[in-house]
Amino acid sequence: MKGKVYLVGAGPGDYKLLTLKGLECIKKADVIVYDRLANKNYLKEAKENCEFIYVGKASSNHTLPQEDINRVIADKAKEGKIVTRLKGGDPYVFGRGGEEGELLKEEGIEFEVVPGITSAIGGLCYAGIPITHRDYASSFHVITGHLRDDDKENPEINWNALANMNGTLVFLMGVANLQKISSNLIKEGKSKDTPVALISWATRSNQRVITSTLENVYETAVRENVKPPTLIAVGDVVELRDKLNFFESKPLFGKNVIVTRSRTQSSSLVSKISDLGGNPIEVPTIKIEKIENNIALENEIKNIKDYTYLILTSKNAVDIFFDKLDEMDLDSRVLANLKVCAIGSATAKEIKNRGIKADIIPEKFVAEYLFEELKDILKDSDKVLIPRAKNARDFLVNKINEICAVKEVHIYETVLDDSKKDEVLDILNSGEVDYITFASSSTVTNFVDIIGKENIDKLNELKVISIGPITTQTAKSLNINVYNEAEVSTIDGIINSIMNDK
Ligand code: SAH
Repeated sequence: MKGKVYLVGAGPGDYKLLTLKGLECIKKADVIVYDRLANKNYLKEAKENCEFIYVGKASSNHTLPQEDINRVIADKAKEGKIVTRLKGGDPYVFGRGGEEGELLKEEGIEFEVVPGITSAIGGLCYAGIPITHRDYASSFHVITGHLRDDDKENPEINWNALANMNGTLVFLMGVANLQKISSNLIKEGKSKDTPVALISWATRSNQRVITSTLENVYETAVRENVKPPTLIAVGDVVELRDKLNFFESKPLFGKNVIVTRSRTQSSSLVSKISDLGGNPIEVPTIKIEKIENNIALENEIKNIKDYTYLILTSKNAVDIFFDKLDEMDLDSRVLANLKVCAIGSATAKEIKNRGIKADIIPEKFVAEYLFEELKDILKDSDKVLIPRAKNARDFLVNKINEICAVKEVHIYETVLDDSKKDEVLDILNSGEVDYITFASSSTVTNFVDIIGKENIDKLNELKVISIGPITTQTAKSLNINVYNEAEVSTIDGIINSIMNDK
């Protein structure tokens, strides 16, 4: 078996600024070697048993020396593994990707390079600064600010050329040398009034941009405590920021939101938060575990002709039910004679994806509202099938049972996810979280199980958003203050209640 290395540009930080090819390399990797600037959320896309090796700054503040990184990558590949080396931005833009490639070549290890969006371009873009513009800059120059000791005879950088070219200048790794950079440019003739932008954590929800002039930028940076990673952009294009700044004006820009849905369900909430400029922090609390070899479900499907109603209460239930039909070599036509009820618009949508329009979708997406609609139409001759979670509430089954026959079949179970307590507490203690969202009662109880009752108070320092009345009730019973309850019990309802919070 031959190993292979992919040097992959992970882009500037925004989760969705990764190439399709880069994602593919993450998914097929046996080992992922990553550093500080690559968005850590990409690791979630890896195979289950993928090994992760962090080579960025550790708590000791030391980066693993380049030779050691090279060694790790080469050795893992020689073991026959697929190694994906994730680097912030583009691997060849001050990423030392060239050196890693050279070594691999020397050792006869196969490798490929996947370009990424460099922060020099993507970072400026998200700060509202076009790197070129017909009226302001007809070239751009990306320069290392990590200057070796200046050799007067052979300076590493031709400051005179840079100062007089009238292109946009972008310095990477330049914060520590900002004074040197600005004074060299002024000395060689660049106007001291030239606009400068300092862009920190570009394209992330914690992006911060400070503008100044070449003359004042050093003082400004000291006063504002600017820290790496920061881009220094010098040129008239910086002035366009006021007009072109689309990113920082997004409604959830700068907001940190904990998302506590199960791993398989959280993706739409996570994706919506980040599309709106916020930072979703995923803390999975529950996992969905399908009940395998479900003979009970097969039996009821065989008897489906006896039923007049089918109630599906979650997207998971829809998936499992219809997959089972398929497995039994049946299709949605077996449901032709019964009425289908859905709790929740996401559930209804999933049913529609399977070729059926739900007959009843209650106005509010809880069992009580469905029962309100059913109680007037159910006859004692009806028979209702509810395939659903093992730990679901009794309410619906008990109430329907007062009118007609009802059969509940357990098709999946929600179990506590094994997220680490300390990790969750670290997030809660960071002081950086604005909201925490709960999309079901079980996420509340599970979250409390994970952090421990003694830590419930920590939740009350955040704004707690609940998806609906039942979840709110559960939270209250645990002494959690609910800040806002979604008006409509959906993921969009949760999003709206955060957006409306001014
Ligand atoms: N290969 C990377 C650059 C690596 S050098 C790329 O193409 O972007 C590291 C420097 O890049 C940092 O010191 C900083 O100047 C810059 N940088 C990378 N990502 C950044 C980000 N999200 N925000 C601001 N600066 C960033």
